[in-house]
Amino acid sequence: MQDYKALARQWRPQSFQYFVGQQHAITALQQSLKRKSVHHAHLLTGTRGVGKTSLARVLAKGLSCIKGVTDVPCEQCEHCKAIEQGNYVDLIEIDAASKTKVEDTKELLNQVHYPPVQGRYKIYLIDEVHSLSANSFNALLKTLEEPPEHIKFILATTDPQKLPITIQSRCIQLHLQQLTEADIAKQLEKILTDRSTTFSHQAMMTLAEAANGSMRDAISLLEQAIALCKESIDDELIDNMLGRAPKADIKSLVHSIHNNAKEKISEHLGKIEKNQLNYHTVIDQMITYLYQVTQQQVLSTGNEANKTDTDDKRFGEEQVQLYIQQLIKAKGELDLYPDQPMGFNLTVLRMMAFKLEQTSLAELIKQQPLPIMQETNETLPRQSNTKNESTVATIINGASKGAIVNHPTQETTTAHKSNNNPKVPTQTTREVTQPTNSQVYTSANNHEDHWNQLKNSNECRGMISQILATAIAPNNLDDNNWEIRIDSSLSNLATPTFEQKIEAICLKTLKRTIKISLTCANTDQAKEKPIGPGDNHTKKEKSTITKKTETHNKKLDHFINTLEAEPLE
Ligand SMILES: [Zn+2]
Repeated sequence: MQDYKALARQWRPQSFQYFVGQQHAITALQQSLKRKSVHHAHLLTGTRGVGKTSLARVLAKGLSCIKGVTDVPCEQCEHCKAIEQGNYVDLIEIDAASKTKVEDTKELLNQVHYPPVQGRYKIYLIDEVHSLSANSFNALLKTLEEPPEHIKFILATTDPQKLPITIQSRCIQLHLQQLTEADIAKQLEKILTDRSTTFSHQAMMTLAEAANGSMRDAISLLEQAIALCKESIDDELIDNMLGRAPKADIKSLVHSIHNNAKEKISEHLGKIEKNQLNYHTVIDQMITYLYQVTQQQVLSTGNEANKTDTDDKRFGEEQVQLYIQQLIKAKGELDLYPDQPMGFNLTVLRMMAFKLEQTSLAELIKQQPLPIMQETNETLPRQSNTKNESTVATIINGASKGAIVNHPTQETTTAHKSNNNPKVPTQTTREVTQPTNSQVYTSANNHEDHWNQLKNSNECRGMISQILATAIAPNNLDDNNWEIRIDSSLSNLATPTFEQKIEAICLKTLKRTIKISLTCANTDQAKEKPIGPGDNHTKKEKSTITKKTETHNKKLDHFINTLEAEPLE
């Protein structure tokens, strides 16, 4: 009867050249073997399945090979073969997790003084060394610092933080990194090619992704797939095995949510429940898909294999970010629902219910002005009343959190060119019954037309139109320095990028060069200190507000800049 050997053991690297990745650690060990000056204690660190034990054994071969200390062990001699089979007498492998007591360590150390039986070195390979007790470490310390000449220690651990610093400082530490998905997939393909099993590249990439950087996990998963496989290892088999939805389904589900395709969504939800997929995995898949979409949209990069198509360009960049946020939140909350299917289905419904497109302020304003302002307080002569009735202040409820806008109900292009004195107060202050804001202005000079033209310009899209929709008109519209106050909820948009964009729109639409500065309108301050004709904000206060906004948004700035909302042309 032939012995069964797990795939991961069959493919354990037997010499330095067979390792995947870990080049720096391998180079370091090979160099020291070549120079025949190998340090007496090495500490190999790294997460599970990255090759710590395998590397330790190959190092032992290099030290013990009958042909002499070498960086290319022969793999043929008695010693090399014995190490490969795990029965070399001078390689003592200890699992520290099962021998944590100080007595175990003392027993081990008592043996240290005897010379090796066969080879030139007695090599102690202590795996999971972080499990040793504090006393054991203390007992080990002295020997680790000055061992007899024939002793080499190789310590391996997944958790070097738990090792006393005194131990760490006595060893040469080599950190083994997690393997890349591409490296893992390549190795899996090599194994299957060797076995003459057919496979799809995508299936191997999926396995590599699930293995999380561990080659051993990847090969174990592959072994499971080989057991399930009838003819070839394809995407469907791997998806079923891992409880994942097919990629096409994930894409279709996200698009259905975006397009409110209710029947299609019900179909997908039913399918996911019927196939008993892992909901955490499905959410991860949706996030991964949206990540690829946003990578394509914003940076025009991304994995060639995962390139998104023209359909994906229909998502707004901001919308994709919102979807990702909703999904991340759902991931954390999934287990709080009575059951996971309910949690997932509610997440999908929430994604349908809350979309940026629907709550876009600019859209709301265009669709339905809500004249709910009530005039209560006339502080200024209504000398401009005859014309400014055309401008009605409007509050957008709900979505705008009480932000104030001026909404032109009519084109006021019959210009008030006679009004040339910019100092004449052209705005009246009105009291609002809404609890949130209290001040708006109307203007009767022709510069206000410019303000309205700017706001309604077709050049204003996306974030720019949102900024302007909630903005309070600058009180010096005749001037070429406009300080536009935006709603505090949009404070993160008060960036130089957007200022420049608005300046460009001004130049294009109004044929005026206007220096724009965006500041955040603090609603509390606005209540106390009326802005406009009675604006009591000192320059200092203004600069404080601006500075605060700038500091607050420093981190967001870069992100928003990369979003580059929309090109002007
Ligand atoms: Zn050999």
